[in-house]
Amino acid sequence: MNSQSTDRNQQFKTYIEQLFCPEDETLRFVRAHSQQANLPPIQVPPAVGKMLYLLAKIQEARYILEIGTLGGYSTVWLARALPPHGKLISLESNPKHVELARLHIEEAGLTRSVEVLWGDAAELLNQLNPQQTGPFDLIFIDADKPRNRMYLDLSLRLSRPGTLIIIDNLIPKGEQAIGQPCHDEAVAIYQFNQYIAQHPALETLLVPTLVGDQGRLDALGLARVKSNN
Ligand code: SAH
Ligand code: MG
Repeated sequence: MNSQSTDRNQQFKTYIEQLFCPEDETLRFVRAHSQQANLPPIQVPPAVGKMLYLLAKIQEARYILEIGTLGGYSTVWLARALPPHGKLISLESNPKHVELARLHIEEAGLTRSVEVLWGDAAELLNQLNPQQTGPFDLIFIDADKPRNRMYLDLSLRLSRPGTLIIIDNLIPKGEQAIGQPCHDEAVAIYQFNQYIAQHPALETLLVPTLVGDQGRLDALGLARVKSNN
């Protein structure tokens, strides 16, 4: 990316953030405290948080599943969109992340609606029984990227017609050119994009997002489970 477009992306990102999604004290705390605890700074940027929040509201989601909690930053955005008796389950394998996220959820006053489950996401997803848990109205996939396809397949078991499945980070990092993968994870991400583009049970689009301090181009996948398939 040339420096002129980096500048413009960065400016545009800041412009949107200041106008449409200023963080309140709680969100600032979750981000700063996660950083202090040396968690990688890979939480969604505020504009993606706001998009998750709005999509959950538009979807009138009562029951949300998140795969990949980190410190609970995206969890807070999503959980704030829930109605009074709504519920969010978030899956996280790193015990340090789980501990911190639980603390942040408590700090955000969301313990009644949010449950963070500790374990490998694929194992936990297999353990969730669709008869008892779900169907979810919205599912946010944001964990280890090479396993996106597995998480999507397992998520479909816990979905209904109309469920919105959102997948983060569908443009790989470090790309010279879009669509030309330069590392293994990138290959997996492009294969996953092909998979969701052609999936018979889904209607899908990638929406561009700007992430990180530089405003790097990334994308959020939006996939709606078809009503008749
Ligand atoms: N959604 C968060 C960011 C998640 S970062 C936010 O935007 O705020 C990705 C997270 O997925 C990390 O915390 C990582 O520990 C977790 N993760 C990686 N592999 C996993 C697995 N197999 N099962 C569950 N969580 C996993
Ligand atoms: Mg992400």
